Amino acid sequence: MDCIFCQIVAGKIPTEIIYHDEDAVAFRDIHPVAPTHIIIIPKEHIPSLAHLSEEQLPLMGHMINIANQLAKKEGISERGYRLVINCGKGGGQVVPHLHMHLLGGRKISDELG
Ligand code: 5GP
Ligand code: ZN
Repeated sequence: MDCIFCQIVAGKIPTEIIYHDEDAVAFRDIHPVAPTHIIIIPKEHIPSLAHLSEEQLPLMGHMINIANQLAKKEGISERGYRLVINCGKGGGQVVPHLHMHLLGGRKISDELG
């Protein structure tokens, strides 16, 4: 298993897990670009958004719900935050395991590429 995020799910890379349930896990980005920078992933290895099946779509709602709850916990819910999913190399995806970035705690305005 050479996927970094699968290794985090398996507990093989020491990482503080800030949220987990049956289907998903969240942890802080190792190179944060904002005061709050959290990565939310499905436990299942789905390489990217482009590999998501229709049956797997509820997982995305689940991940958004986790992001919204974590945003409240981080105290950034009222001020606002951004959810980002990079898809494929052209979309800026580096780790080939579907993940959502939760970014906040500073004004995020001009980084749509
Ligand atoms: P991508 O560019 O694929 O959308 O984002 C991948 C993110 O994962 C990057 O922001 C990167 O800093 C983060 N990342 C990569 N490897 C690790 C790791 O081993 N631990 C943690 N916590 N974050 C990682
Ligand atoms: Zn994986």
